[in-house]
Amino acid sequence: MRDVLPICYSDVSCRYKALFEKTGQSLYLTIAANGVCRVTLGKPVQATLKTPVHFQGTGLHTGATVHLTIRPASTDYGIWFKRTDVLIGDAMIPARWDVVEQTALCTRIKNEAGVSVSTIEHLMAALAGCGIHNALIEIDAPEVPILDGSSADFVHGFLKAGIVRQAAPVWAIKVLQPVSVTRGDATAALLPADEMRIDFHIDFTDEAIGQQTKELNLANGSFIRELCNSRTFCRQADVEAMQASGLALGGDPAENAVVFDGADVQAKGGLRHADEPVRHKMLDAMGDLYLAGAPLLAHYRGHRAGHSLTNALLRELFSQPDNWRLVECGASQAARLPGAGVHMGEFPAVA
Ligand SMILES: [Zn+2]
Repeated sequence: MRDVLPICYSDVSCRYKALFEKTGQSLYLTIAANGVCRVTLGKPVQATLKTPVHFQGTGLHTGATVHLTIRPASTDYGIWFKRTDVLIGDAMIPARWDVVEQTALCTRIKNEAGVSVSTIEHLMAALAGCGIHNALIEIDAPEVPILDGSSADFVHGFLKAGIVRQAAPVWAIKVLQPVSVTRGDATAALLPADEMRIDFHIDFTDEAIGQQTKELNLANGSFIRELCNSRTFCRQADVEAMQASGLALGGDPAENAVVFDGADVQAKGGLRHADEPVRHKMLDAMGDLYLAGAPLLAHYRGHRAGHSLTNALLRELFSQPDNWRLVECGASQAARLPGAGVHMGEFPAVA
């Protein structure tokens, strides 16, 4: 038996807490302050990074060089961003649905002091897909670097650093009844399910994109195998319009996006999947849904949906207490969460 992570708590109710592993089974030992000892076998546990992971790149919309460090964090910490370039006032921003600003092109979170971070969705998707529950993300700019336009570099960095188990149970948000939001011809819905499932449909007039539909059960590393290397995409006319209005200054189709122009496709190395656009929309949904604050046990259905609509969907979910319930995952539920059992062998050859 291996002592994975002994932790001494200053908490008055707990004197000692430890996690052991034997043949893949986890075992908790908790000694309370009054001396009562409790042993729990086989419970799934939270996870964080083994060591900090550093990234450097360009912000898609600002064009500035950005430094990013994702650090391990303690149990029940969740995911937080810290703006290291903000020296006066509150620099901490929780990665949570209720601090999302409504934006069409990316997901931006902002704290009460007005400090924000943009374009967090591909990083959030990587954290969700790798099953990382606790992390502190330090960033010296208001925008997460775009890297290659997908989550691949983040996923690779996390798997290389290692993901460690922590002595606390995994909680998930179980959707209890269907919720949906509609804007024009776009819809997004969450349906009750015992696993994390995403299905998405897009419908573009550009013949190189057209209609694409894909459905995936996000378990057993499928995010890493099927979605993580799918790049952000746009149309040539959108690039010109964005740059004319001072956006997408760091957008370089040669490096970090797939650009469609009618029947033409501009993409470094060609498309990574024939249906790369719909896969990227699923990746975006995965990242935006992780702002729920915990993994979801639900079936997400998106039709022409985007960041703003997915956030509206979370707001609708949490608007009624009987729409959802926080559940402590048993072994079978945790095995159906996106990060269960991920490893480097699942990383796609084309990234
Ligand atoms: Zn995206």
